[in-house]
Order: sequence, then structure tokens, then C-alpha cells
Amino acid sequence: MWRRNQRQAAGPGRPRVIVVGAGFAGLAATGQLARGGADVLLIDRNAYSTFQPLLYQVATGGLNQGDVSYPARAFTRRYGARFRLGELAGVDPAERQVTLADGGQFGYDYLVLATGVSAAYFGVPGAAEHSLGLYTRRDSAELRNHIMARLERLDIAGPGAEVNFTVVGGGATGVELAGALAELRSTALDAAFPEVDLAAVHIRLVERAPELLLPFHPRLREYARQQLASRGVEVLTGTAIQEVRSDRVILAGGTELPSDVTVWAAGVSGPAELASWGLPQGPGGRILVGPDLRVRGQDRIFALGDIALIDGQPLPQLAQPALQTGRHAAGQIQRLAAGQPAVPFQYHDKGIMATIGRRSAVVELPRRIRVRGTLAWLAWLALHLVTLLGHRNRMSALLNLSWRYLTWGHGGGVIVGDDPLPLPEGLLTMKHVPSQ
Ligand SMILES: Cc1cc2nc3c(=O)[nH]c(=O)nc-3n(C[C@H](O)[C@H](O)[C@H](O)COP(=O)(O)OP(=O)(O)OC[C@H]3O[C@@H](n4cnc5c(N)ncnc54)[C@H](O)[C@@H]3O)c2cc1C
Repeated sequence: MWRRNQRQAAGPGRPRVIVVGAGFAGLAATGQLARGGADVLLIDRNAYSTFQPLLYQVATGGLNQGDVSYPARAFTRRYGARFRLGELAGVDPAERQVTLADGGQFGYDYLVLATGVSAAYFGVPGAAEHSLGLYTRRDSAELRNHIMARLERLDIAGPGAEVNFTVVGGGATGVELAGALAELRSTALDAAFPEVDLAAVHIRLVERAPELLLPFHPRLREYARQQLASRGVEVLTGTAIQEVRSDRVILAGGTELPSDVTVWAAGVSGPAELASWGLPQGPGGRILVGPDLRVRGQDRIFALGDIALIDGQPLPQLAQPALQTGRHAAGQIQRLAAGQPAVPFQYHDKGIMATIGRRSAVVELPRRIRVRGTLAWLAWLALHLVTLLGHRNRMSALLNLSWRYLTWGHGGGVIVGDDPLPLPEGLLTMKHVPSQ
């Protein structure tokens, strides 16, 4: 049926659009363009779209990887677009052609770049080598495996041993992850690791700025700090990380803190490979775009979402700007194809939110509306479930989150993965030698 639709729809006069990146921005552009009759090819290095806002739930064993990802082909099929798995390796604006890492080449009338960002380490020695990130589905599974492996080692080592988790970065991602780790410790561990002493699990959040959650009102920042502290998270603000090693973090000033798992959530930048695409980059490695979202100096290439830095209108790297820029770029391509001029993008601020854990979140809406606590948490939960793509994902995420939040300390348990660390033979022997 879909193939027949494709053939019926094919024909001259339809702009050929390549969209690279199946995140919020890329999907928003793809959907609108394909609905409007464009011939759209969506390209992504993964065969799925990732819902980043719930990655930390995967990392702490509350959700499955599949719950937060949606097959890209299911999306393109619905809108009559096509999907190609591949990694963008080069852009040739003169020939209007992109090249993929596997050698595939595709021509376009308009190109939309929506490839997102990755971690910025700000030159901190050891950060790239010894910390884990949380940007992709793979990252979340890897982090979960390391967290669980450390808890297993704690169980093996028995009394006296400790484990230290350090989250670097007090923005929304860092706060949410630290809160989820605290929740893991206070609730799920009891069922999953009954012999582990919860007091031996230390969680630390380190932020260079004097406060957490800087984009929020000071009262909400303070609330978040208090909530984390009351859940047993050690919050260090005004504290810069000088170096990361495999078993510790070193603070500016030289203080060394043990850290078995260090998560880097301190900043984002355009990926390194972006430089080879030959497009203008601004601060943070983002692609510089004009007010109508066309890449500076290019009349047929758009950049959207996290990767784009708009002239005179720098936007937060969040889902709403990504969705809105996606729709706007689609509209501009439709206008240009119809011989009309492109118009500037206007961002509509719909507010920001961050969750600390069960019944604890902060929401800041336009017109100074601020909510915190249970109501904010319910709003956070509802919004995330509604915006998750796919009915099956919504159902499974609802089930898994309910399991986590409703069973609350009564057998919640965790989703476990594979153990990435070698088993310490000596410790194993120690634990299983019968006492004399
Ligand atoms: C852990 C975490 C939690 C977050 N929580 C929130 C939240 O609660 N609320 C909120 O509003 N925002 C949140 N964000 C931010 C939000 O997820 C991003 O702003 C949003 O995903 C940006 O959308 P995008 O389409 O620009 O990029 P992305 O969603 O990152 O999508 C980029 C896509 O491009 C693909 N890609 C990258 N490079 C290539 C290449 N070379 N070739 C082919 N494909 C490529 C990737 O595979 C990916 O599918 C969070 C982000 C993270 C990391």
C-alpha cells in the first residue's frame, strides 16, 4: 500500500528534500514536508528516533531502551517519506549532494541538517576518557550497565566497601539523573540488592556555577537543591572539575573525591565531524543560521534544533525549539519551492521543567507562572508520556514508570543489563568462604 502511494505521489515539481537527523527537529520537518507533498528522504545513523528526555530513566533501570525509541521507518511510512540508515560524512552545496560514510550519495533541492549535539568537555583532562555521557540510547544502556556493575561489586565485596557516583553538571539533565540515582538507592535497591548497605552508595552532583538549574527562578533552584539534599545527594555548587580519572574526580584546588562512575552532563557542543562539512560554525560548534534558519551563506541548506545557532536569537537546546524550528524550516521550503520568500523564525516560549524524583519537579511557564512539588511532577509525567512517540512506547513507559513509582519500595526492582566489568576473583572467593 505504501509503495503504491510512493509511486502515485512521485512526479516532477515536487522538491526533493533530504533531512539528516531523526530527532525532534528532523521528524517535525519530515512530517510537515511529506504531508505537504515534498519528496523527503530522512537519513539517520540509527534506525530509530531517541526520546532523550527519558534517557536517565533507562540509565537507572526504570525504563527499557525500546521504551524511549521509535522506529524511523514507522514514522516515514506514516507520512509517505523514505528512510535511509547512514551517517552523514560530507555536504557538497555546489552539486547539491550529500555523501554518507558508507559511500552513498544523494542529490537534493533542499537539505535540512538536524543532527543534534554531543558532550562538551571544555578541555578537562580525562573527562572524555573516564566519564560516561547520556545523549544516545547506547549511552543510557552503557551507563545503566556501569551503575549496576558497581552495585554488584558492592554486593560482592560486602560490608565496608563503598561506591561513589558523580554527576558533573547541575543543569536539568544532571539534576534529573542525580535525583533518579537517589531514587534508585532509596527504593529500588532494597528489592534488587537486598544485601547492599544503602549508606555505602554515595551520590554527588558537581556544578561550576553558584546554583543549580540556572534558567529557572532562584526559588525553584533552591527548591531543587533542597529536594536533592533531602534525598541524600551531596550537592557541590561553585565547584569546578579539574580532572577526571578512572576512580576519582579532582576538583579545582586539588581536592580528590573518589568516583567509580562519573557522568558528564556539563555542556554540549556540535560533534567534531561537523567541521568537515564545511559549514560556518559559531560558539559551541553550532551551525550559524540566519533568521529564516538557512545556514549562513547557503540558500538551500537549513540547520535546526540543537545544532543550529540563530543570528540574534540564540535558543535553549530543548525539545520545543527543535520542534518549532523543524516546522518552520518545512514551511520555508514549501514557500521557496512555490517561489515565495522565506520569513524569519519566531520562537514561542512554552516554558521549561525539570524533575527531581517522585512527586518533586519544577515547572516555569511564561507569565511568571511557577509550579513545584507534586503538581509539577504530575505535569512532567503527563507531558513526557504524551510526547513520547508511538502508542506501544507510551503504554510500556507508563507501565514501567508506574511500576517504579507506584510499587515504591515494595518490590520495584530494576531493569538490569549486561555487566561490562571483569569480575574480581579475589573478592568473590572472600565472600563465599564459610566463616571459621
Ligand atoms: C539526557 C537528556 C535529557 C533531556 N531532557 C529534556 C527535557 O526534559 N526537556 C526538553 O525540552 N529537552 C530535553 N533535552 C534536550 C532535547 O532532548 C534536545 O534539545 C532535542 O533532542 C534536540 O533535538 P534535535 O532534533 O535537534 O537533535 P536530537 O534529538 O539529538 O537528534 C539528532 C539526530 O541526528 C542523528 N545524527 C547525528 N549525527 C548524525 C550524522 N552524522 N549522520 C546521521 N545522523 C546523525 C542522531 O542519531 C539523532 O537521531 C534533554 C537532552 C538530554 C541529552
